Amino acid sequence: METDVTTALYPPERLEAVREATRRAGIGALLLTPGPDLRYVTGYHALPLERLTCLAVPASGEPFLVVPRLELPAAKESPAGGLDLELVPWDETDDPFALVARRLPGGVSRVGLADQMWAAMVLRFRAAMPDAEQVVAGTVLRELRMRKSAAEVAALREAGAAIDRVHRRVPGFLKPGRTEREVGRDIADAIIAEGHTAVDFVIVGSGPNGANPHAELSDRVIAAHEPVVVDIGGTMPSGYCSDSTRNYCVGEPPPEYAEYYEVLRRAQDASCEAVRPGVTPEAVDAAGRDLIAAAGYGKHFFHRTGHGIGLETHEEPYIVAGNTEPLEPGMAFSVEPGIYPGAHGARIEDIVVCTRDGHERMNTTPRELVVVD
Ligand code: ZN
Ligand code: ZN
Ligand code: ZN
Repeated sequence: METDVTTALYPPERLEAVREATRRAGIGALLLTPGPDLRYVTGYHALPLERLTCLAVPASGEPFLVVPRLELPAAKESPAGGLDLELVPWDETDDPFALVARRLPGGVSRVGLADQMWAAMVLRFRAAMPDAEQVVAGTVLRELRMRKSAAEVAALREAGAAIDRVHRRVPGFLKPGRTEREVGRDIADAIIAEGHTAVDFVIVGSGPNGANPHAELSDRVIAAHEPVVVDIGGTMPSGYCSDSTRNYCVGEPPPEYAEYYEVLRRAQDASCEAVRPGVTPEAVDAAGRDLIAAAGYGKHFFHRTGHGIGLETHEEPYIVAGNTEPLEPGMAFSVEPGIYPGAHGARIEDIVVCTRDGHERMNTTPRELVVVD
């Protein structure tokens, strides 16, 4: 990754914005171990290890990054090395939890721990700071992470283009007589070849497996005229994720499938088109769900319409009934209704970003069923 791109994605002033948000939330310090929160704040893609790496962001006072001495070179090399941030290495016989506690300013009565911190570390921090109440850092960071910057939206656009290139190659992998696993292996290779650094998931749901939204790859042989749900995603070098679903069939699909597929296509489009600032996630969900219900398929669409996406494939905001927090520019999420009658199923998924005057789809491959000859 080029340095100027990294700086735009992980700007040095973010650390100050996080400190300000921490102060406003009435939290004495954030403690972030390796994971998406640490990466968001510093750009440091640290490995989760049993040895403690922890960014401490006190509400008042200077932030510091405690790292095992063995990881110091990696931390210095990372974007965190270019921040106004003291790196504090610890040695094998030190207690790094006590080290963090000692360096925090006095009087910290509440600490915000990274949402995905290991329980073993949470308990070590509790022992090192017995008087501090522990809360999740997510309450502070969600407000920032949910509203993507222009650079983050650009990273999601790049991720969308990469997974779209993979979808364009899928017809070449689908041949009657091949198994889901064989096709899935080719797709996984293509996800890397098209620019991702990691394959996050590959769903190839043929026939009845297409009616299970979270089907695992199986040794089921794909037959002609069987609809196949292909839901795939990976992580780009930027750290940002892709996620898109398209539907394929070798030869013409069964007539009843074609009928509900058209309902689904209109529903997915209606939900995407509903996206603009001020609209609630539950209204985006309802826009598509109501069409599906009116066509008589309501009970075959049994999951939420979508999830936020960014440094994680699933993050806030969730596009679900009950979420009434209005959309704002920069919010990014999937719109992925499905209809799953049982013998087969279908789901169409795009990543959509709320813009100042509407929305932008990060995925642009055709949403019609792809019939492979
Ligand atoms: Zn998906
Ligand atoms: Zn998704
Ligand atoms: Zn549109």
